[in-house]
Amino acid sequence: MRAFRCRVCDSELFFENSACVTCGSVLGFSRQERAIVPLDETGRYVDAGRWIWHRCRNFELSGCTWLARIDGGQCEACDLTRTRPADADVDGLAQFGKAEAAKRHLVVELDSRGFRIDGLVFDMLSSTGAWGEDVVIGHADGVITIDVAESDDARRERIRGELGEPYRTMLGHLRHEVGHFVQQQLVTGGDRLAAYRGLFGDETADYQAEIDRHYAEGPPEGWAASYLSAYATMHPFEDFAETFAHYLHISDTCETAAAQGLVTVAPAAFGSFRDLVRGVWIPLAIALNQINRSMGKDDLYPFVIPEPVLDKLDFVARLAFAGPGTMQ
Ligand SMILES: [Zn+2]
Ligand SMILES: [Zn+2]
Ligand SMILES: [Zn+2]
Repeated sequence: MRAFRCRVCDSELFFENSACVTCGSVLGFSRQERAIVPLDETGRYVDAGRWIWHRCRNFELSGCTWLARIDGGQCEACDLTRTRPADADVDGLAQFGKAEAAKRHLVVELDSRGFRIDGLVFDMLSSTGAWGEDVVIGHADGVITIDVAESDDARRERIRGELGEPYRTMLGHLRHEVGHFVQQQLVTGGDRLAAYRGLFGDETADYQAEIDRHYAEGPPEGWAASYLSAYATMHPFEDFAETFAHYLHISDTCETAAAQGLVTVAPAAFGSFRDLVRGVWIPLAIALNQINRSMGKDDLYPFVIPEPVLDKLDFVARLAFAGPGTMQ
């Protein structure tokens, strides 16, 4: 995430800020300007084109700090949510607020890397509490379903342990699921498919049969030499989604590190994503893991990137700003 500054007093701001802690200005996030902007005393922001913006109506409901075109209306990030917990589901709404914050982060990073999200919607459902329902996290034809109960740290950590996963976060779920959407939009059926199959395999393999195989037999021996996670071995769709999630983990964290002065070379200075991973990310991740260990925390990036994954990451990174492939 890039660094933000207060336009009134020039103090550093964080993406989630709704007010400047230094000068007290009330703030809103402008998706169009990719900036945090001050609201006037009537709660409005007037942009350079004289358009008037208002705080999103979901500020109280989900902590949304974004700007909306209509007074009393909602912002474009909130527009993406098709279903949310019911008004009476207090626990579900608390989980929903955390999940929506992660979703806003996702939208900003997709915008900044040129990924179009037209046609994408979210069902934000809760599997716990009196209102709980069966929720399977996943993507199907532009609909991402998220179990907002994964915002509950104790619950998510328990599931992570049961599944033997090294890493499990709400932002990670969102990055993985949007990877399936990106594959559908930019790879499947287009002229990038042959290159995709050369790296990830034949995506026409029976999905359910492959999942059943994975849960019956586990990942293939030696999987870590060519995959980021055991989960990625299940099917080429999952390998792509895992790779896409790591592309966002790495590019966002490198951007944050550059904005905070932790790395001196701008990520954009690298000619390829492979070079960025080798030159910046791997040494940075080792350093950040050691820093976490100094605080008694788990590793920040508990993964090893084998050589074949560099090629997959490079393929995914070239989709940024690429637009739809030519359909065959
Ligand atoms: Zn300020
Ligand atoms: Zn909003
Ligand atoms: Zn998946």
